[in-house]
Amino acid sequence: MSEIKYDRQSRIPEWEQKNLSRAKVAVIGAGALGNHVCLGLIGLGVGSIKIIDYDEIETHNLNRQSLFREEDIGKNKAETLAELLKERNSSIEIFGIDEKIEEDTIDDIIRDVDVIIDCVDLIYVRNLLNIFCIEHNIPLIHGGISWTGGQTGILTRKTPCIKCIYPKALQKEEIDNETSCIRNPEASVVYISQIIAGLMVYNVRKVLLPLPTDYKHPSGLFKLDVRLENPFYFEKIMRKKKCDCVKLLKKVAPNILKEEKEILKKIEKENLKELQKTIELPNKEKNLKTHTLIKKKTTKTSKTPKSSK
Ligand SMILES: [Zn+2]
Repeated sequence: MSEIKYDRQSRIPEWEQKNLSRAKVAVIGAGALGNHVCLGLIGLGVGSIKIIDYDEIETHNLNRQSLFREEDIGKNKAETLAELLKERNSSIEIFGIDEKIEEDTIDDIIRDVDVIIDCVDLIYVRNLLNIFCIEHNIPLIHGGISWTGGQTGILTRKTPCIKCIYPKALQKEEIDNETSCIRNPEASVVYISQIIAGLMVYNVRKVLLPLPTDYKHPSGLFKLDVRLENPFYFEKIMRKKKCDCVKLLKKVAPNILKEEKEILKKIEKENLKELQKTIELPNKEKNLKTHTLIKKKTTKTSKTPKSSK
């Protein structure tokens, strides 16, 4: 039954459906991103999905949080989404959890998963996920949207973290004002959520079922800005030297930092070599030019006495 369900994607060379059907993932946030990400996850045939959100469905959610219906208004988002998804794919284990992610609850709520998917709109919660994922060595699929675009990336111990991505000022502003997006809601539109959610599901597949055709991106974010002529682009990100992830990695995985240092040293050496080449090259050319100029002058001067004869 499940093989037939996923027949078309299983025709992709080296596709192993069992990698997906054995996987357990957690989706944090059942809003616009969460709705479309979950729809993608049941399409992929991910074996087990935990959806976490303590929020209730409101009228203004319905145009972007596409699975919710008018009759769902007032119900919990995570539990409702789980029930609606089960109707679409009964072979998947889906749990809706009406809980708020906090420092002292995160461990109980999200444990025993292979991937965590960040569909939240608060940096405060993102930071908790960030630390949790580094501590437990769980890949974090980050996603964020505005009305003009969004971004997604795969964050692991070997990549920069959420705090390396977001500027400190923005983090402080949000943490100081934890409910900022509730008090002061930002503009949002359905098509951006759909595009970014699609790319996030693609990132989930890349982690659970890497394929030889996958492009090996360096650490960074896949970005969309619909105001640009070329709206999709990839932005490399670097680990910040004094970031919390560095402090944490020193405790839980110091080897990763050592390896990174060695790679950086190699790159610096190579860059220095390249730089030396570019400096040497114009100098050589300059020397060559002066040399020919002198040669020409000498031939000219040597000719003059001849003509005087
Ligand atoms: Zn960091």
